[in-house]
Amino acid sequence: MIELSEIRSLARDFAQAELRPGVEQWDHEAALGESVLPQLAELGFLGMLVSEEDGGAGFGMPAFVAALEEIAWGEPATALLVLVQQVVARGLGTSPADVRGRWLGGIASGELRGCYAFGDDVALHATQDGDAWRVSGSAPFVLHAGDGAAVALVRAGTDAGQATFAVALDDGAAFGERLDTLGLRPLHVSPLVLEAAAAVRLDDAAYTAASHTGRLGVAAVALGIAQAALDHALGYAAVREQFRTKLRDFDAIRFKLADMATSIAATRALLLDAAQQESATAAAMAKVLASRTAMHVTTEAVQVFGGYGYMRDYPVEKLMRDARAMGLIQGADERLRLEIASSLYDD
Ligand SMILES: Cc1cc2nc3c(=O)[nH]c(=O)nc-3n(C[C@H](O)[C@H](O)[C@H](O)COP(=O)(O)OP(=O)(O)OC[C@H]3O[C@@H](n4cnc5c(N)ncnc54)[C@H](O)[C@@H]3O)c2cc1C
Repeated sequence: MIELSEIRSLARDFAQAELRPGVEQWDHEAALGESVLPQLAELGFLGMLVSEEDGGAGFGMPAFVAALEEIAWGEPATALLVLVQQVVARGLGTSPADVRGRWLGGIASGELRGCYAFGDDVALHATQDGDAWRVSGSAPFVLHAGDGAAVALVRAGTDAGQATFAVALDDGAAFGERLDTLGLRPLHVSPLVLEAAAAVRLDDAAYTAASHTGRLGVAAVALGIAQAALDHALGYAAVREQFRTKLRDFDAIRFKLADMATSIAATRALLLDAAQQESATAAAMAKVLASRTAMHVTTEAVQVFGGYGYMRDYPVEKLMRDARAMGLIQGADERLRLEIASSLYDD
């Protein structure tokens, strides 16, 4: 049985060797290097949460969030690519053997790309057509829609309320123009438009598993962004001198670095705890704390770099742009905080 620390260090080695060197160029070109996806597949990261029986690596959630944090430390958009595959995989993983057999092996190997549309802004409706279902409507922001995605996991309204569907994207699917984003620039975000697309209705467990994975995963990505920003700040403060003193020796800077490290440690502990439970509230808490940590730490890292921190030649402004998405994706933090509050009152 492979240890959590071994998975973490495998992911860190990959991030250091294969992702860090490309960060600046991929941000500039708004595209990941071509070798990234095959490498992720070969190392088994695309199938981490797919069972071995279905062609994946069959890891548990703690191992997944640890690996994802390290990949995000290397390059956050890459970690989100891995996460989207796992959200879809975990949703499909609860479905009958024929559905799993159709898609899961391809998702784990990277031959098939998945995407999902779950937000409140998603306007999808499903109708029954004999034994089959058809889904129509649109979702405005979907990661990897139009970027070769073959299957979408969606929430759609039915005459009897919201339900979850796996939609094949080979027929009845169109993709809007790719959207221009503040951060996470290598990611392909576009609208997904469905017109009577053939769908398989899944159990509610599919949505629960997918959404749980999404929350924990975004928390892990946010944490990786924060750790990367702290590491850059520590490095810079150790070499930059002002008034013949290293920045690291100014108390004002030391307080910042201490607070950044403390927030990161607290977030990592909460995330690991949440990853060991099935609780949606615990996952929401981890996601909300992690998105705040990412924003706080990256903003402070820019401050530690001074004016250079604002310049594109230095790495921290990009991390701040990436961090800004963490409070929005996979449920805006306000919605998650309302959900957390409801759990306190048992509403
Ligand atoms: C980079 C990126 C990638 C994304 N990828 C995906 C994807 O792959 N799949 C997908 O399904 N979605 C995706 N989304 C969409 C994302 O989940 C939504 O943007 C998010 O849920 C917020 O919804 P909205 O944009 O409609 O904002 P609104 O719902 O219009 O919210 C605007 C503001 O009002 C607040 N608000 C809204 N409703 C309430 C309420 N009831 N109570 C309190 N406050 C409220 C929100 O918190 C927010 O601050 C992505 C978004 C981004 C930015």
